[in-house]
Amino acid sequence: MVLGIKKYTAFILIIVLMTLTACAGGDRDISTPTENQDQQDETGVTTPEDERDEDSQSEESEEEPLEEEEEMQPPVDLKGLKVNELGKIMVLMYHGIGEEEDVWVRTPENFRKDLQILYDKGYRAIGMKDYIQGNIDTPPGTTPVIITFDDGLRGQFNVLDEGDEFVVDPDCAVGILEDFNKEHPDFGLKATFYVFYPTPFKQEKWVSKKFQYLTEKGMEIGNHAYNHENLRMDMSTKEPRDAQFVQEALGRNVMMTREILPGYEVDSLALPYGATPKDEDVYQYVIKGSFDGTEYHNKAILLVGANPAKPSYHKDTNMARTPRIRASEMDTEGVGLYDWLDYFDRNPEERYISDGDPNTISYPKGMEEHLDKSRTGDKLIQPYE
Ligand SMILES: [Zn+2]
Repeated sequence: MVLGIKKYTAFILIIVLMTLTACAGGDRDISTPTENQDQQDETGVTTPEDERDEDSQSEESEEEPLEEEEEMQPPVDLKGLKVNELGKIMVLMYHGIGEEEDVWVRTPENFRKDLQILYDKGYRAIGMKDYIQGNIDTPPGTTPVIITFDDGLRGQFNVLDEGDEFVVDPDCAVGILEDFNKEHPDFGLKATFYVFYPTPFKQEKWVSKKFQYLTEKGMEIGNHAYNHENLRMDMSTKEPRDAQFVQEALGRNVMMTREILPGYEVDSLALPYGATPKDEDVYQYVIKGSFDGTEYHNKAILLVGANPAKPSYHKDTNMARTPRIRASEMDTEGVGLYDWLDYFDRNPEERYISDGDPNTISYPKGMEEHLDKSRTGDKLIQPYE
């Protein structure tokens, strides 16, 4: 707590210098109405402690003195925590949650175990939208992880058959995630469900209610094509898919989701079978297109295997081909969740380690070459020694 005044003054100086450099460099995007507010945030590294202090301010505090108070908070110990916001991030891929473990099915027990191990190893869940935006706000020193579910299976979100009462099955993925978050509120109730139609989660009566429930709690819904179409080819004729086919398969999915959740932004896609059109021109319609007046834009397109991803502002990142890791212990061929967890235990310097502030990108000096400055938006770039 008793940080040397000199050290702290030096830190402030560095921040001021970097802010000036960033402005002069013209790296910023077009100003937005929120920019002033952002700048205020950039003057000091905000930590969860700052916020607590802010809350506990007595009522007589006016806004201005409070700002000064905020500046006086000691910064996050970037070096001590080995912060690395250019490190790797796992996007986990689940399918079924059910009674019998299989290649594509996790038992409730094993899913609980996955969450506990992730938590114990310092991983915290974030949503796909935050990943796309690079808005990673997990606590300082932790590693974000993205949990995804394909196919909209009943075991992912099951409502117990008790007449008209909406009771979430405690052994379905949503029930398990909720219970886990009651015990570990800092884990984050975040998951993205890639669904197809006509009946996501397989209980017609509850489709709308489930969608509302998920999004109200901060979980997300993504595109898995209208009816799980193979976007590369017709498997019986081997005929490659064309732009019109792709747009109908993806646009109809979004149209259906918006019928249930008007205005909801479906902005990511998990490729059914991991299959992509071979023709690059057709692939463009996987990213963007429209069908019958419904436009879609997939800002992240998720593959099936087999590596960790990197942040959206990393030079290696191609959001149109985002790799995922199978959250399974069967036939993982050395690239499943537990293989990667071991890998990161052995190579911790490759992990993304958060500084706790979604508005800054912090990393050890010397990693600049990996940063794609055209994708950092208004974020403050914060290399440290
Ligand atoms: Zn699928």
